[in-house]
Amino acid sequence: MKKRSEQLVEILKRHNARVTEQRIAVLDAVMRTNVHPTAAEIYDQLKDRFPSMSLATVYNNLRVLTSEKVIVELRTSGDSSRYDYFENGEQHYHAVCRSCGKVVDFSYPELTDVELAAARLVHFHETSHQLEVYGLCDACYQKSHESNRLQALS
Ligand SMILES: [Zn+2]
Ligand SMILES: [Zn+2]
Repeated sequence: MKKRSEQLVEILKRHNARVTEQRIAVLDAVMRTNVHPTAAEIYDQLKDRFPSMSLATVYNNLRVLTSEKVIVELRTSGDSSRYDYFENGEQHYHAVCRSCGKVVDFSYPELTDVELAAARLVHFHETSHQLEVYGLCDACYQKSHESNRLQALS
């Protein structure tokens, strides 16, 4: 087993992204969780380790990592973008909670056929796709039903 930091360096090199200690840390922060952090959340996580680092630096690193296709910027409903890493390039999809903004991963392998369809039907090459499903997470659903019930009682 390779050390995690070596793996991170390898990923950056594979994508021709310049390797800096802060960039490794930003990538690590995106990869390590499946909560799809925002730039501000990553900044909060790292500011103790890198006191000289600004939020703008985090944004800048995320932009580089996104444009090199190391990570993916999610277009969710919230104000700030969330970031994600696809393990082994494996596609997964996102269920986004309309109430709390939580983003949960799920996989649905059949959906890769949609890229084959784009190739076959409209002759597109090097395709990719993203999908978000919007709704209420279970906690928010239960909460809203609970308050409806209390309102009905009062
Ligand atoms: Zn929710
Ligand atoms: Zn995800």
